[in-house]
Amino acid sequence: MQGAGLSSDERGMLEITRRFGEEIVAPVAAELDSRPDPADCFSWEIVERADAAGIRTATLTKEHGGVGIDSLTTAMVIEELGKFDLGVSVVLAQTLKIAQTLQAAATPDQRDRFLPDYAADPRGLLAIAITEPDRSSDYIIPYADGDYRTRAVPTDGGWVINGQKHFISNGNRARLYLLFAQTEPGKGLAEGSTCFLVEPSAPGFSIGRVHDKMGERLANNAELFFEDCFVPDENILGEVGKGFDVLARFFPASNAYAAASVLGVAQAAYSRALEWTRNRYQGGSYLLEKDSVAQVLSRMRMKIDAAQAYIHRAAWMSDNRQLGWDPKMGALPKVFASEVAWEVVTSTLELHGGYGYMRDTGVEKLVRDAAAFLHSDGANASLLLKAARFIRQDAPVPVRGHPDR
Ligand SMILES: Cc1cc2nc3c(=O)[nH]c(=O)nc-3n(C[C@H](O)[C@H](O)[C@H](O)COP(=O)(O)OP(=O)(O)OC[C@H]3O[C@@H](n4cnc5c(N)ncnc54)[C@H](O)[C@@H]3O)c2cc1C
Repeated sequence: MQGAGLSSDERGMLEITRRFGEEIVAPVAAELDSRPDPADCFSWEIVERADAAGIRTATLTKEHGGVGIDSLTTAMVIEELGKFDLGVSVVLAQTLKIAQTLQAAATPDQRDRFLPDYAADPRGLLAIAITEPDRSSDYIIPYADGDYRTRAVPTDGGWVINGQKHFISNGNRARLYLLFAQTEPGKGLAEGSTCFLVEPSAPGFSIGRVHDKMGERLANNAELFFEDCFVPDENILGEVGKGFDVLARFFPASNAYAAASVLGVAQAAYSRALEWTRNRYQGGSYLLEKDSVAQVLSRMRMKIDAAQAYIHRAAWMSDNRQLGWDPKMGALPKVFASEVAWEVVTSTLELHGGYGYMRDTGVEKLVRDAAAFLHSDGANASLLLKAARFIRQDAPVPVRGHPDR
């Protein structure tokens, strides 16, 4: 059950999020989702209302103008948002997690320069730009030769960046970007990449097209272009050549947050499946009275609860890594939750029969939305390989020859 074991402040934030979802997001989500131009599906009004409710800045400490919710509560808030709309959940999840990272990884000077403005701007959103057209799963696994094509070359007082990123959530809406670029060509990105803080006003930075996505449409994803874009030395987050460390050390809960977003979709689908099957009369009884249908509902409930427990464990452990953080928890909860969500939404579609296929029941939106997280935040197949790397590290194959020779 969401909220058990939380402080009253944290439970309050969950309750605020639930009301925000019900009153602000739910009434407009389907209409925004249906707009043909992907840029128009995004709503500043939703962001401003999230700001007024204290959700947008909830991970900032009180000193920085937020309420300082921990990673477990953040995961719960993100899941709650996902129940009402996946895109809104992603817009805010990106912002909440990057704000958390900035507080942990930024220098005091960077915190002073960026956090007050972000906190004060009711439209202040954040984005992280890693993926490139030719470099994507490679950075998740990562391969030694998988360096970024986006290059940063040192110059007087800073760096000149050239390259392109794409698929970036909040890409056309953010007031600050965490940009990853190769600073040491020839080395893999694990050793030769650096994280830069880039503002939209940086010379040589421009935004390309907004991607036309099949689902998660209330979030915008965009291309970013860097043409001789100057970024000063003082905007390096972490150390030169240690961009990968920023990801590994300061984003431990990122995977759990992505999992929480899509789990919200699964929760929404389950509620619809339950409501439908207890009211739909066919074959002499209500659908829920048929054992085979009730078994489907039980399976959904079991898998949603298991995914939620996994997410909560990963989120809690990310704040308590001294108690024994398992790096596989930075890869696997999203794989599991997105597979569960996919099973739940497709079962919900099936239980609705022909009605599910019709737009007005709202089930097809959940199917389109859930599909996003089979790939977003890392394709599942690549995340399994990432986890496998840790499994092999812990239990290497002994050095020996072919077993038959
Ligand atoms: C909705 C959405 C939001 C996103 N938001 C962001 C964002 O905010 N910031 C950002 O930087 N990126 C973002 N991304 C990018 C996302 O992280 C990438 O799409 C993802 O990492 C997969 O990369 P790709 O699409 O290029 O697929 P590819 O890397 O081309 O992979 C294609 C397929 O091949 C498989 N594959 C790849 N390598 C291997 C291998 N070695 N062995 C076996 N199978 C393999 C993959 O699992 C996948 O199934 C977003 C993507 C989506 C869809």
